[in-house]
Amino acid sequence: MSSDKTPWGVSLHGGHSGEYCDHAVGTLREVIEAAIEKGFKTYGISEHAPRHGERYLYANERDRGWTLEKILADFESYGTAIFALAEEYADRITILRGYEIEVVPHDRYAEIMLDYRKRFRFDYMVGSVHYMHDISIDSSVEEFEQVLKITGGLESLALEYYESVARMIEALKPEVVGHLDLVRKNGHLYGPLDTPAIRDAAESTLEVARAHDCILDLNTAGWRKGLDSPYPAPWLLQRANEMGIPVCFGDDSHGPELVGAGIPEAREYLLQNGVTAVKVLNRNSEVVERRRVEL
Ligand SMILES: [Zn+2]
Ligand SMILES: [Zn+2]
Repeated sequence: MSSDKTPWGVSLHGGHSGEYCDHAVGTLREVIEAAIEKGFKTYGISEHAPRHGERYLYANERDRGWTLEKILADFESYGTAIFALAEEYADRITILRGYEIEVVPHDRYAEIMLDYRKRFRFDYMVGSVHYMHDISIDSSVEEFEQVLKITGGLESLALEYYESVARMIEALKPEVVGHLDLVRKNGHLYGPLDTPAIRDAAESTLEVARAHDCILDLNTAGWRKGLDSPYPAPWLLQRANEMGIPVCFGDDSHGPELVGAGIPEAREYLLQNGVTAVKVLNRNSEVVERRRVEL
């Protein structure tokens, strides 16, 4: 991906690294160097914000002996490190300093996540919903089935999911909405996620995203998770496009090897679905520019 020929070579979601995330590898510096090597001119780093509560620790974190204190401290270190590295590499690449939020604990996440933004003066935020009823829908099928039981079935789970994405957008006003139909990751094992009721709920959420000028993350991890399309699925992407909601690529990389993964294929996917441009944030987060993905 050479940057002169591929002005669309940008990513606004990814850059997780083993320094700050239990399920990523490599260092933040290695991720940035990989982005430079792969021809990115703008690369957004959106490390996971910590989940404030022992009960949310991942099995992998517990196995490693990690504690709540450790993940809180790691994110503080990230907030400092990303600023220093963005400055250090500024003559070679525009690193956008961001973070990916969590919606737990459900009763006070908004306050916690907005406080991070203010304290670290992050350039932008990726708004993602990985939890429902304080249980991860992004991890094991066992956890997903707990949520299915609470919501009373797949369709009602999906309706609640899109509703909680809308509430998150209203509470946090994220520049980027992460993997809008993440509910597919485990949900596709249990039935269709494009019923008329689900499409209506998703469309209501798109209206909220439009009202808050959000950019949708065209997230290539969907392919890596074994789905037949990235996030969002074709019908959802097409609807967003008809509604005038912009998208940008997100490689959702969790290590230097995955920097840029799937972006050329994602560009094809956009064109197949009638999307001809991506929107890119600047370090001045309210400014966006439009880059055509057509050759
Ligand atoms: Zn992750
Ligand atoms: Zn995510």
